[in-house]
Amino acid sequence: MSNLAQPGAPALSLEYFPPRDIAAQERLVRSAKRLAALNPAYVSVTFGAGGSTRTGTVDTVQMLRNLGTDVAPHLSCIGATREDLRAILDDYLARGIRRLVALRGDMPSGMGGDTGDLHYASELVRFVREQYGDAFHIEVAAYPEMHPQAESARQDLLHFVNKVHAGADSAITQYFFNPDAYFDFVDQVRAHGIDIPITPGIMPVTNYTQLARFSSMCGAEIPRWMRLRLQDFGDDKASIRAFGIDVVTRLTARLLENGAPGVHFYTLNHADAVVQICDNLGLAGAQRSAVGA
Ligand SMILES: Cc1cc2nc3c(=O)[nH]c(=O)nc-3n(C[C@H](O)[C@H](O)[C@H](O)COP(=O)(O)OP(=O)(O)OC[C@H]3O[C@@H](n4cnc5c(N)ncnc54)[C@H](O)[C@@H]3O)c2cc1C
Repeated sequence: MSNLAQPGAPALSLEYFPPRDIAAQERLVRSAKRLAALNPAYVSVTFGAGGSTRTGTVDTVQMLRNLGTDVAPHLSCIGATREDLRAILDDYLARGIRRLVALRGDMPSGMGGDTGDLHYASELVRFVREQYGDAFHIEVAAYPEMHPQAESARQDLLHFVNKVHAGADSAITQYFFNPDAYFDFVDQVRAHGIDIPITPGIMPVTNYTQLARFSSMCGAEIPRWMRLRLQDFGDDKASIRAFGIDVVTRLTARLLENGAPGVHFYTLNHADAVVQICDNLGLAGAQRSAVGA
């Protein structure tokens, strides 16, 4: 098994989303404090996802920075003008933020056809580089199982290559459960002469209904055998959790043993499953608090 705690060990990063209310905010603070014990290289905060607002991202970024963590806000360009983006980026720069996750994002349904000044993440990356030079380390999204709106897998790969040529420093993948999809994607990217780190995004499995909903939206495949096992568990949350932690631990171990530069956990603002998986992977210092978060 991989040991993330060894010197030169793969980097761990964690993703949070802006909480909607006070109770969710308190849960996030508890989770973030517990997960800080894993010594993540940085944590990231989503932007605009699930109806959250730009202010929600900024407030969450500031809260996490106050906990002493390096924070990378996500920034999507869809629906924004260059002026909007400059205002956000100036603010982040003034706050000492030096890492971004640059995305196209998705147009909320019912918002009509005004997609803003920039139409793809590659344009946002180029814009940030033109306006701010190397002030930010730029992460971009990658899709080992293809972005759901791509014309073809080949075109999607070429668009990813273009995004890196625009100035991306590293990439985080959409989640997946088939490690070969990741290895094949990395091989294809390397064949284009691109050597940036491509960190697998890892989704802890704790709730089948939620996972099925996310997966149908983002195009991540739930393998048939996993789906059938999860369906069999019905409402038995404890069995779903135990199975999910086992599957995701084995997936993560296989990725790290075969060269993944680190792992990026989609925490969904919960700590327990991530702590358990990291503990299984031999991460010294993984907190074993009895406090559920
Ligand atoms: C790690 C990660 C974090 C995310 N965080 C958020 C978040 O915080 N908020 C949020 O709303 N969403 C988030 N998403 C979801 C993301 O916004 C959606 O997947 C979105 O549909 C695509 O964003 P992108 O940056 O990958 O787009 P792009 O890289 O621009 O690609 C989008 C699509 O356009 C195609 N394409 C790219 N360039 C061209 C071109 N020149 N011509 C024609 N087609 C092209 C691509 O093949 C792809 O199908 C995240 C996804 C990942 C993997």
